Amino acid sequence: MNTFMRKLNFKRILKSILTVYLLFFGLIVFGQNPEVETSIHKNVQKRTDEIFDNLIQIRRDLHTYPELSEQEKRTSKKIEEYLLSLGLEVKTNIGGYGVVGILNGHKAGKRIAWRADIDALASDFPDVVDFKSKNKGVRHICGHDIHTTIGLGIANILTSQKENIDGTVYFLFQPSEENYEGAKAMINDGLFDMIDPEEIYGLHIVPFPAGTIATKGEEVFAHYNAIKVSFKNSHSTDSLIDYTKKLISSFQNIKPESKFWDPGNLTDSNVGIGNPNTIFKNYLTVNEDFSIKQTNNEVVISTIIQSSNGKQLDSLIKSLKQNINESKYSKDLISVEYSWEKDVVLNDKNLAAKALNSITNIYGKQSVIPLYGEVPYGFGDDFAYFQNQVPGVYFFLGGANYEKGIISMPHTPNFDVDEDCIRTGVNFFSSMIIESLNNE
Ligand SMILES: [Zn+2]
Ligand SMILES: [Zn+2]
Repeated sequence: MNTFMRKLNFKRILKSILTVYLLFFGLIVFGQNPEVETSIHKNVQKRTDEIFDNLIQIRRDLHTYPELSEQEKRTSKKIEEYLLSLGLEVKTNIGGYGVVGILNGHKAGKRIAWRADIDALASDFPDVVDFKSKNKGVRHICGHDIHTTIGLGIANILTSQKENIDGTVYFLFQPSEENYEGAKAMINDGLFDMIDPEEIYGLHIVPFPAGTIATKGEEVFAHYNAIKVSFKNSHSTDSLIDYTKKLISSFQNIKPESKFWDPGNLTDSNVGIGNPNTIFKNYLTVNEDFSIKQTNNEVVISTIIQSSNGKQLDSLIKSLKQNINESKYSKDLISVEYSWEKDVVLNDKNLAAKALNSITNIYGKQSVIPLYGEVPYGFGDDFAYFQNQVPGVYFFLGGANYEKGIISMPHTPNFDVDEDCIRTGVNFFSSMIIESLNNE
């Protein structure tokens, strides 16, 4: 009932927002018939309802037989079989157990990739669901069983609509996300010689309510890196170490008693990342657990830094150098640098705005949570490596259900999700891809 009402509203207001829409996004929608478009999205939802029970079976099967990074043999076989059953062209063993399915629409057009990660994690804690893991010490506590199922679901839906869509959709099933190796491995194995997407999308489950999705332009996760300050080993080592630790720590702008430190607040409606006044923005934190390495010649002081934006990380280097150069230790300074090469998810601003807009128009405002902050605590996704090559958007998908008591962060021992988020993921992102292909 609700959904239907929203559609009526959509049709009524479509005319008036069209001008604004065009101004903002430069979309060419002339000649497009809103009736036809609406009926495509109705078909999407109808079809998702039809295959939903089967998708749940697939998810539970994947959950029962989770596989660690680089060992996703059974999982990739299941994916391959499903994609072949849809009649797609399928490529396997890309960068390990990576699988790609290729769907060609009614005629040539835009090329879009959808990525799902497929691996599980080591965990000895008992499963909280009835369909418990049968692979000892391995569990899907990051929700990649859900991501894989949604990827297959979207492939099914778009295949059923292929006469109504223009262009090509690539379904990327990526192994080894948890060790941050799989995306790189697929790329190094020639992924982008086989396929040539113009846009790439993917998602991760988070404890927002099931039925919602969230994203923003640019970062959705904090940058996370090890800062390393090296000095010549002089006679005053203790005071030098003390000075440097205090100096680095002074750049932290989050107080020890802040709600920032409790991950439970990430999706809080007042301070969480979905609120414009979120406490999870413009932050830089310094891990107090410094590592000190001394040799006869050198003292190296390092620790982990996280920051909500990359520019802040660059300016930290400059500020540290400046402070040290103005101190009595200036003559001993060798270098200030970051130790890790680790890319961060960086969403294309225009594509993010377009995607949020089309999902809002089709599924209603309450389905979409615009983000204002970046997730800290070292979370990230090697989807970043795909985005280095192809502009794209990474979404958060709500998997929590507060009434059912399902609310957990990925990687926690009791991680659980409301399976209805599979319906949301399949519907929203099938529709989003159709809109993007047909409204070129
Ligand atoms: Zn994970
Ligand atoms: Zn994950």
